[in-house]
Amino acid sequence: MCNNYAKYVHTITLQAEQGQVSDMAKASTGHSSANKLDEIVASARQQSEKRGHGYREQALKLYPWLCGRCGREFTHSNVRELTVHHKNHDHDYNPPDGSNWELLCLYCHDNEHQRQTEALANKGIALDGAKAPEATFNPFADLKTLLDRNK
Ligand SMILES: [Zn+2]
Ligand SMILES: [Zn+2]
Repeated sequence: MCNNYAKYVHTITLQAEQGQVSDMAKASTGHSSANKLDEIVASARQQSEKRGHGYREQALKLYPWLCGRCGREFTHSNVRELTVHHKNHDHDYNPPDGSNWELLCLYCHDNEHQRQTEALANKGIALDGAKAPEATFNPFADLKTLLDRNK
């Protein structure tokens, strides 16, 4: 009796295991389609990276190799430091005439985005009718304007 019960439990366990196996088979079928999805995502990412290199190359062909802010000139040896800025800040908007691109050195590019962030922050504060606190201003922004003016 005790033996039979053990056999019974064993059979149930086996059946459960078999059930699990068939569930796993189903899951693995699902997994293979997930792999396909991964492939699609990967190839889409590759294509967008290719597009990404595409607009940089196009912009470098279209414009002289100098920073649109500080006027620093670039050659083949340091052109890696010359970046393509998207004027509307949308990296997916790449009209072939280059109207959304601006070549900026790393420093000025950084500065440009910082100014954008601050402008948005200041706008948010201005909407409340309060003055933007002094501390949020970039102390170097004015310095840069002065430097540019002296050129
Ligand atoms: Zn610059
Ligand atoms: Zn940018």
